[in-house]
Amino acid sequence: MIYRTSIFSSTLSSAGLLVLTACMLAACGGANEDQGLAISDMGLQASAEAMRADVEVLTADRFEGRETGKPGAYAAGEWLARRMKSLGLQAAGDSGYFQTFRYKPHPPMQVHGHGDTSLTMGMAMVREIVGKNVIGATAPVVDTNQRWGVIGCHHDHLGWGDENSLWRAEAEGDSALHPGADDNASGVALLLELASRHAVAPMVDHPLMMASFSGEEKGLWGSNHFTDEPTVGMEHIDWMINFDMVGRLKGDTLAVYGNGTSPVWNDILEECNAEEGAGFELVLSESGVGPSDHTSFYLADVPVLHFFTGQHEDYHKPTDTADKLNYEGMVRIADYSACIVQKLGALDSIPFTKTKDSTNDDAPRFKVTLGVVPDYLYSGTGMRIDGVSDDRPAAIAGMKKGDVVVRIGEIEVLDMMGYMEGLSKFEEGQTTEVEILRGGASVVMEVTWD
Ligand SMILES: [Zn+2]
Repeated sequence: MIYRTSIFSSTLSSAGLLVLTACMLAACGGANEDQGLAISDMGLQASAEAMRADVEVLTADRFEGRETGKPGAYAAGEWLARRMKSLGLQAAGDSGYFQTFRYKPHPPMQVHGHGDTSLTMGMAMVREIVGKNVIGATAPVVDTNQRWGVIGCHHDHLGWGDENSLWRAEAEGDSALHPGADDNASGVALLLELASRHAVAPMVDHPLMMASFSGEEKGLWGSNHFTDEPTVGMEHIDWMINFDMVGRLKGDTLAVYGNGTSPVWNDILEECNAEEGAGFELVLSESGVGPSDHTSFYLADVPVLHFFTGQHEDYHKPTDTADKLNYEGMVRIADYSACIVQKLGALDSIPFTKTKDSTNDDAPRFKVTLGVVPDYLYSGTGMRIDGVSDDRPAAIAGMKKGDVVVRIGEIEVLDMMGYMEGLSKFEEGQTTEVEILRGGASVVMEVTWD
């Protein structure tokens, strides 16, 4: 999942708004702390262990955090292609299982200082980055009019901490491996689990493409490339389901984004949620535009869904490790997804509908941020902080994970909208009183915006 890119600079805030709206409409409650079903079923155990094994491999040191264009990402891709082959998936890239893309990031401006008298502006040297999507299919890709469904995820992450890392080393110049267990070894493991189930008992008659993208963290590069140069015609792709950060199911709360991209989604989501073992508290958001690869498909007029188990304090940090995932929760999501794929297979057509752009004008614009990860699944009063970025205004003021922001300056913060409205009133460099609740007690802090 990407935290920020040039095109979705306010994606998280917008997503939060939508979650909030969805919560108000659906009157969704807090997370059910009951961790779900008793783990007695052998199949469930086997699925959970298979996914744990895949996550442990992907997060191992030898793949070095899987940063796009680096040896660790290529090695992880090779491993993934072998896994796909062992599950009976056919090669569906443009070179075996691989689909190569090249991307030249925009050169950042650099300021070179010469002594203390003159400054010259220069362009940094920008190297082309080569990434590889890994794509398998349940049938050979031949030029026919078959319908396809795409199950997608991304396997790249932040390596030793790229510009999207929220971790700040104590000593400057230090780096740390970012294993990306939830983001997004969890999605890869879930995709492989569905491939393995399909090999035993096909979920649908028509073929499925299992696509693991690279370059996601850098800005959806791999999925953009795929939808520009698909290995089956885009007109043959009926739907796309994206798994990005599905390893931290808490209670029963599951976010499903994109339910406005086809009129078929709501009924299917509801019917499958009534199946035994499902029973999720669904947090729905209609928009097809979000901080992950389904966006590329939505923008190519494909109905999409994105499954997501929520933000957490380990997001984009070296602490996003394999031992923190809820593997039984992933089995529940796999069961739910398999049900959805089956129901899609029984439909004659899956119409596409455009959704309201999530970056619409309802969202206040703001120039400053606190440097926190809001808890988008929080439904109480205020804005609860799910993570704090080091060296940013909130951290400097002393805010912590779990604090609930209830006032910024004169503005009462009742919810995410109030929070964003609060931010829209201030400028860089100003100092503002921010009131938070910590363990129920009110604490007022001085925040200097950056
Ligand atoms: Zn991410």
